[in-house]
Amino acid sequence: MSFDLSTRLAARRADNLYRQRPLLESPQGPEVVVDGQPLLAFCNNDYLGLANHPQVIEAWQAGASRWGVGGGASHLVIGHSGPHHALEEALAEFTGRPRALLFSNGYMANLGAVTALVGQGDTVLEDRLNHASLLDAGLLSGARFNRYLHNDATSLAKRLEKACGHTLVVTDGVFSMDGDLADLPALAREARAKGAWLMVDDAHGFGPLGAKGGGIIEHFGLSVDDVPVLVGTLGKAFGTSGAFVAGSEELIESLIQFARPYIYTTSQPPALACATLKSLELLRTEHWRREHLNRLIRQFRHGAEQIGLQLMDSFTPIQPIMVGDSGRAVQLSRRLRERGLLVTAIRPPTVPAGSARLRVTLSAAHTEAQVQLLLNALEDCWREWEPDHA
Ligand SMILES: *Cc1c(COP(=O)(O)O)cnc(C)c1O
Repeated sequence: MSFDLSTRLAARRADNLYRQRPLLESPQGPEVVVDGQPLLAFCNNDYLGLANHPQVIEAWQAGASRWGVGGGASHLVIGHSGPHHALEEALAEFTGRPRALLFSNGYMANLGAVTALVGQGDTVLEDRLNHASLLDAGLLSGARFNRYLHNDATSLAKRLEKACGHTLVVTDGVFSMDGDLADLPALAREARAKGAWLMVDDAHGFGPLGAKGGGIIEHFGLSVDDVPVLVGTLGKAFGTSGAFVAGSEELIESLIQFARPYIYTTSQPPALACATLKSLELLRTEHWRREHLNRLIRQFRHGAEQIGLQLMDSFTPIQPIMVGDSGRAVQLSRRLRERGLLVTAIRPPTVPAGSARLRVTLSAAHTEAQVQLLLNALEDCWREWEPDHA
């Protein structure tokens, strides 16, 4: 049978699900140039505005001068260099766990951790709304794979009753398309009661959440026994690239032995680790970014509620506006863009059918005036289509 890609692509277009890549022609930040047009953007994950920070850039440059550009080999051969090791030690200290292991990105950290811990005869239980990389990891592991209702400890408990073998419970910390927090204390209680391990991917929590940016674990004050496997990514609030798994000495040694996405890949450039060490320092010590960001979140939610927009249960920088219909979401996003604002429409299959939304993300690099501009534009665009929406 021959491939009929054109029919598949046409169907995707007809369903309003066709994806296109905006071309960024400037550094990341609130004010960007996209496809030749200057725009005010509310869609990156650079929550603390560190992706283009002069000190982080300088650390990268100095790192490249000292260590060169490429990692040159995998960690187990000769690619594990001083800056990688120093960053792992700093991340262990930051997360309050005995050790941390650096991965090339979050997708690989999740694949690596899940597939190293469970396999045939075991069980993986995941939140229905988990990030795609976690769902893929669960499927790839070969373990029995089951999804529980979103953030529902009771639904998890029912599935734990039927679990066999080693059982891994996996959840996002902050849900990436909704912005809400996992109910970790309840999930951890259920998991511990059944001898299961809880793995939390806190890609969006590190940086914005917790008094010192320690994410959802710091927010809830949870121990390594509550959450034995903790994943963080470095491409979001850290502003750089990469990811890590933090946990016990034995967990990290096991990943070094058995996590294929760790073993069979070239280490990230050591200079990148130098940059991340600097951004970690800024994230931990300069609290004003988190405080400013929290003010912007309150400002946005207050303004959006006054307009009558349907927000979600989120106090994080992820502030989706529920639209429902994919075509509408795309249309709203397009209208905002005509007014110089970039807000992404998120559609199925990234989110469940009928729950297309505008995904607004806020950053400490935004000003209050910029958030007000967004609110003004949203008010106008929303009013435009409300009559025929109702
Ligand atoms: C972004 C994200 C990832 C993937 O991380 P990358 O480093 O970008 O590969 C994993 N999990 C969650 C929850 C994410 O939001």
